[in-house]
Amino acid sequence: MRGAGADVAVIGGGIVGLALARAALARQPGLKLVVLEKEAALAAHQTGHNSGVVHTGVYYRPGSLKAKLCVTGARRMIAYCRDRGLPLAIPGKVIVARTPKELAGLVEIERRGRQNGVEGLRRLDRAALAELEPHVAGIAALHVPAAAIVDYAAVARSFAAEIAAAGGEVRTGVTVRGFAADAQDVVVETTAGELRARRVANCAGLHADRIAALAAGRPPADVRILPFRGEYYVLAPRAAGLIRGLVYPVPDARFPFLGVHFTPRVSGAVEAGPNAVLAWRREGYRRFDASWAETAAMLGYTGFWAMAARYWRQGLAEQWRSFSRAAFVRALQGLLPELRPDEALPGGAGVRAQLVQRDGALMDDFCVRRAGPFLHVLNVPSPAATASLAIGDALAEQLAA
Ligand SMILES: Cc1cc2nc3c(=O)[nH]c(=O)nc-3n(C[C@H](O)[C@H](O)[C@H](O)COP(=O)(O)OP(=O)(O)OC[C@H]3O[C@@H](n4cnc5c(N)ncnc54)[C@H](O)[C@@H]3O)c2cc1C
Repeated sequence: MRGAGADVAVIGGGIVGLALARAALARQPGLKLVVLEKEAALAAHQTGHNSGVVHTGVYYRPGSLKAKLCVTGARRMIAYCRDRGLPLAIPGKVIVARTPKELAGLVEIERRGRQNGVEGLRRLDRAALAELEPHVAGIAALHVPAAAIVDYAAVARSFAAEIAAAGGEVRTGVTVRGFAADAQDVVVETTAGELRARRVANCAGLHADRIAALAAGRPPADVRILPFRGEYYVLAPRAAGLIRGLVYPVPDARFPFLGVHFTPRVSGAVEAGPNAVLAWRREGYRRFDASWAETAAMLGYTGFWAMAARYWRQGLAEQWRSFSRAAFVRALQGLLPELRPDEALPGGAGVRAQLVQRDGALMDDFCVRRAGPFLHVLNVPSPAATASLAIGDALAEQLAA
């Protein structure tokens, strides 16, 4: 790769980097663009380890980037999968209030959904919920009929095929290790040699803050990515048959995660989860995966301790549910009382890249920063896979500006 030159280098072959690359090539045909992915395959991390849900945009603060990009992105994602024959189903979703205390949260989600322009929302009382989901327990619910399921790894591979067809290059097995600058270009140092690029888009997911640190010569002062593992169970066939669509609880509004829920997959399986536990390695998919260097870096960040002080209650509850299958199943039985403990079988896991501010707050909205020739995509948690087509366009516009 020595001496090679490009107009744009995109770091990260997840759905966001690929969506940006696809959009940049559509804006500017003939652009010399290279996507660099460290793994042998695309979509190896968050994009290939998620719930596969096309979110509709009900949860997000009106006016936020999440709200805007999710609502437009969801419609486009469904059309994209339909047009290309990629796996797609639209089972709809219910968000269920189990106690009177949760009703206020449900009302707020409905208000946000309506303000964000989500179509087809309908409030359900106990009887109407029972008609839709006869085995689900709740006193009220919000029906979100447009919620869909797809296979985001398949979508990412389809984006890569479009990039290649438009003359872009996608290189796997190439890790970006650092940068140097010369008069005009950024010299991107990789395990496969150097690459010169006019502009660099950092879409490195769980490693985006590290790439930003390599570019600036020091870590960002005010934010850091902390990894949150989400563990899943798979329902045995009898229990899977009790669920018709997506079934979610009313989430804890102080936390950016949605609470453990039931998700049918395009494969036909039904999954329960994910929880949200701090991982001691950025790509720590198993409970005991840890890296001393990463843990030390985490503990050395002021924001880690501030976060622990803010969220220790929720954090401990999530840890407990991670170690105790009985506790996890009890949480699920809150929604599906007929679920038997032996019907929740251990499944896979994903790790979320969550930006944590110095004051310990988990950054809620998407966050992108520009620094000279670099565009750093620092916080694109869920629903970024849903919104990827819209995010790709927005990033391509920023990169071209
Ligand atoms: C458990 C879980 C459930 C989720 N559920 C949903 C959902 O149902 N719906 C939804 O919309 N969103 C969901 N999300 C969020 C969604 O998966 C992410 O927002 C999205 O995949 C982010 O894509 P990305 O491209 O930024 O990151 P990634 O897919 O993680 O891609 C980043 C890539 O950068 C590469 N990389 C890193 N460092 C380097 C380097 N130095 N050199 C080269 N390459 C590098 C990595 O190998 C990786 O492939 C979920 C996420 C998780 C973890």
